[in-house]
Amino acid sequence: MDYEVVIGCEVHVELKTKTKIFCSCPTDFGGEPNTHVCPVCLGLPGTLPVLNKKVLEYAIKAGLALNCEIAQFSKFDRKNYFYPDLTKAYQISQFDLPICKNGYIDIETDKGKKRIGITRIHMEEDAGKLVHQGNTITTSAGSLVDYNRAGVPLIEIVSEPDMRSAEEVVEFLNSLKAIIEYTGVSDARMEQGSLRCDVNLSLRPVGQIEFGTRAEIKNLNSFRSVERVIQYEIDRQVDILESGGKVIQETRTWDESKGRTYSLRSKEDSDEYRYFPEPDLPPVIVMEDYIEKLRAELPEMPKEKRRRMIEKDGLPEYDAGIITASKALVDFYDAVHTHYGDAKKISNWIMGELLAKVNAEGIELNALKIQPEQMAALLKLVDSGEISGKIAKKVFAEMFETGNNPGDIIKKQGLMQISDETALKTMIEQVVETNPKSVEDYKAGKTKALGFLVGQIMKQSRGQANPAVINRLLVEKLNSM
Ligand SMILES: [Zn+2]
Repeated sequence: MDYEVVIGCEVHVELKTKTKIFCSCPTDFGGEPNTHVCPVCLGLPGTLPVLNKKVLEYAIKAGLALNCEIAQFSKFDRKNYFYPDLTKAYQISQFDLPICKNGYIDIETDKGKKRIGITRIHMEEDAGKLVHQGNTITTSAGSLVDYNRAGVPLIEIVSEPDMRSAEEVVEFLNSLKAIIEYTGVSDARMEQGSLRCDVNLSLRPVGQIEFGTRAEIKNLNSFRSVERVIQYEIDRQVDILESGGKVIQETRTWDESKGRTYSLRSKEDSDEYRYFPEPDLPPVIVMEDYIEKLRAELPEMPKEKRRRMIEKDGLPEYDAGIITASKALVDFYDAVHTHYGDAKKISNWIMGELLAKVNAEGIELNALKIQPEQMAALLKLVDSGEISGKIAKKVFAEMFETGNNPGDIIKKQGLMQISDETALKTMIEQVVETNPKSVEDYKAGKTKALGFLVGQIMKQSRGQANPAVINRLLVEKLNSM
């Protein structure tokens, strides 16, 4: 039987506020365990939460950027469950009246354009972190709890089950990550846990309207894991259905090293959490003019930026797509462009040398040592003929490592392009003398020999000879022989 896969995502995004959602503890990552805590985020009796206004602002901004309706009336609820990562045995979240709903993201895959619905976005507090002793939870002798993360603000973005392939999910997550980055409400870094994704996946026979039973897979911390988990779950569920079995509704976890999912627990229905309105926080009432003020503050989004780069800067769609996928990359491009006019040359260097280095060394784009002005200076040095394109790559590698100015690197390492004819003529004499066979070949009409001789001179000059001048002088020399 042919099956259709149905996928939805729940994405937790950590908001980049200075302090926690209901107290004034810092949200900084790291720190000694249990040092970023206070009576409120430890849930001690008698304390009362107060909503951080910045969290509301960021949640609304994310909602506006994701084309959501913003609720003018929303409220907080208690989600009850007992686990040591919660100090209060409940998490303050939003249940039936979330801050945002009915949004969407437009994505594009090989199969064309598609709109993926956003069901809702709600605000909630993060839980603490359990640190298990030993290698795995099953062999652990004990666990310690760190509450530094308890009360760090999150938004949970829930998509409609609109996706039908791993490719669509990855495209959805890429677009979502870029949009969130642009709004500035979060770093949205999957590897560091500020963007976490759960995937809901079910199968149904092609043509069937009702959804099949879904499994929810948690613990995905890279785009690569998302792709792998989807393929694994499709295979697992097909096997069950083909052998006449039934998929059960459950929460599963992904083991990256083993490349498989494991059952964690049978899936709770929401009534098992016994949600009820949070009595310690008043409802959140948002005025229309406040929403409009935030809407006006939103920066240009990836889609508009892409269009402008294509229409105004004359970049190919492909280049614009790659650069706008990351806010840090766009900022770098823009900054170089203010110092240097040729957009296509900038994008060639970004997509070539820069991204190759970034990927090879696993460096964060916002931690680059090379400054945009230095990149512009390097491109100008190539244009003026002071260094060749080949040498420029060498200089770039040094700039990337050290953050030094291209001019200083060139001077220090003596990399200036040699266009001086007297110096070049000496090199030509030598090479012609030591390669009589190639000279003969050239004379006999084998033009390939010319390329070989030019190559020898370039080699001798450590790539610094000006190839255009070499070519001209060498032809003159050979013709005079
Ligand atoms: Zn606190």
